[in-house]
Amino acid sequence: MTVRVVWFKRDLRVTDHGPLYHAARQGPVAPLYVAEPEYWAQPDAGERRWGFVRETLQELDQTLSKLGQPLWFMHDSMINVLEYLKDRFGVFELYSHQETGVQWCNRRNQIVREWCRRNGVLWREWPVCGVLRRATAAERWQAAWKDFMAQTRYPSPKSLPMLGTSPLKPEAWPETIGADPTPCVLRQAGGRAAAAQELKSFLQTRGINYFRDTHYPATSFEGGSRLSPYLSHGVISLREAVQQSRRALQIYHTHRSADWVKSMTEFLSRLYLRSHYMQQMEDEPGMESINLHKSFNGLREHQFDEAKFEAWKNGETGFPLIDAAMKALINYGWINYQLRGLLMSFAANQLWLHWREPALHMARLSTDYDPAVHFPLTQQFAGTTGMFEQKIYNPVTESHRLDPAGKFIRAECSALREVSDAYLHAPWKMPHAEQIMSGCVLGQDYPMPIINNEDASLIAGQRLKAHLEERLDPMETARVRAAHLRSIKLD
Ligand SMILES: Cc1cc2nc3c(=O)[nH]c(=O)nc-3n(C[C@H](O)[C@H](O)[C@H](O)COP(=O)(O)OP(=O)(O)OC[C@H]3O[C@@H](n4cnc5c(N)ncnc54)[C@H](O)[C@@H]3O)c2cc1C
Repeated sequence: MTVRVVWFKRDLRVTDHGPLYHAARQGPVAPLYVAEPEYWAQPDAGERRWGFVRETLQELDQTLSKLGQPLWFMHDSMINVLEYLKDRFGVFELYSHQETGVQWCNRRNQIVREWCRRNGVLWREWPVCGVLRRATAAERWQAAWKDFMAQTRYPSPKSLPMLGTSPLKPEAWPETIGADPTPCVLRQAGGRAAAAQELKSFLQTRGINYFRDTHYPATSFEGGSRLSPYLSHGVISLREAVQQSRRALQIYHTHRSADWVKSMTEFLSRLYLRSHYMQQMEDEPGMESINLHKSFNGLREHQFDEAKFEAWKNGETGFPLIDAAMKALINYGWINYQLRGLLMSFAANQLWLHWREPALHMARLSTDYDPAVHFPLTQQFAGTTGMFEQKIYNPVTESHRLDPAGKFIRAECSALREVSDAYLHAPWKMPHAEQIMSGCVLGQDYPMPIINNEDASLIAGQRLKAHLEERLDPMETARVRAAHLRSIKLD
């Protein structure tokens, strides 16, 4: 009987899993995860994300074992794994979800496709998150997304006949892989149980003031959904999150709970944005290294100030909210949308760093890293999409706006803990006597700002203007807009 190999990638679950559901209906299934050494050696890979994936795989293995067939875990290149499967099963079929990833993944998928063709192996792929492989008119895209999200979810298979055990037992799975070893002391736990708990607590209690809490760093850790690592690795499907929050929205409508209605509406629009950005990456392969709008080529490529980059990476720029954001990302593997955008905008504008290295650094530190969301948003904040007017955020103004009482900054930057409200957002203005009183001597306990913000912002704006006056190609603007400008508002 033909064996169907279900290749798990960013879909680490058994429910609402099209490939697993269809494979199980047709006969024996080998559920497979391949920890590809080359994938985990890429410059966007962090050990912390592997830790999250490993925990999730352990739980997935237990769930699959209860169904009858444990997870097959292999630590090798995909081609070696395919050869092994051919020796073991003879002819088999390969089932998986589609993948929207970086060029390394696209090339690997091309090699797999070629291998399957040469070896007479059928490879079937199922769509993910409402992302379409074929070009679709912008005005029809949202309707297609809604259709996808309204479809009945695939149930988990009831049982899987035992085919054999994994070549590598869970005890032998590598503890540490990933290019970046920075430890993450407060990382979210992997696994379906943790994901379900996060979703439930969010929809029933934590989410009531989401519409407000998610924007502010100090409240976002509790008031944000915190579902991103689970959605990025498919521990729960986007469709499940959408359907559950739609149901919650209906209930809150019935009970006339205005805050809940506002929060759930905003949450749904964010889930929609996930697919929106994934579609951008799907349609524009290579966005992890190439400017979306080609007129921005040459803008920042020719200079890169390593010292500024190091200060930014370590949360030592002398700008409290920027530094607190980076330290929180290092400690938690997560920060909210506003802080990620601010970090990227500051790196690309005031520090005038090409966005690629900062984006890779943030990717390695983020438990929820998903290239299909990460790079389109990176480019949006670095201003290289050409779809919006470039905004240069003032880190001091944003600091007052996003952390008015300084709770977040004080929690993340211990040197600033005793600094008074008057100087917390711009400590370089603090008189020396007060620096001594608050235990925060600049240049000693906390860095002096590495740039003058007003000057750096002005220069960034001037450079951008001069570059575009010389290089802006209206045809390229028209191309980008035609391809990517669709409604980012969920109607
Ligand atoms: C420079 C930059 C890089 C980013 N990189 C990533 C990344 O690698 N992985 C990632 O999941 N998110 C990324 N985001 C989007 C966003 O910051 C995170 O999804 C969010 O902070 C996660 O927190 P949460 O789960 O509490 O999200 P919530 O705010 O509760 O949102 C729910 C879910 O919707 C999705 N989502 C929310 N906001 C957005 C958005 N603006 N665009 C697309 N999807 C969104 C996420 O899946 C999120 O889990 C990035 C944002 C920026 C500005």
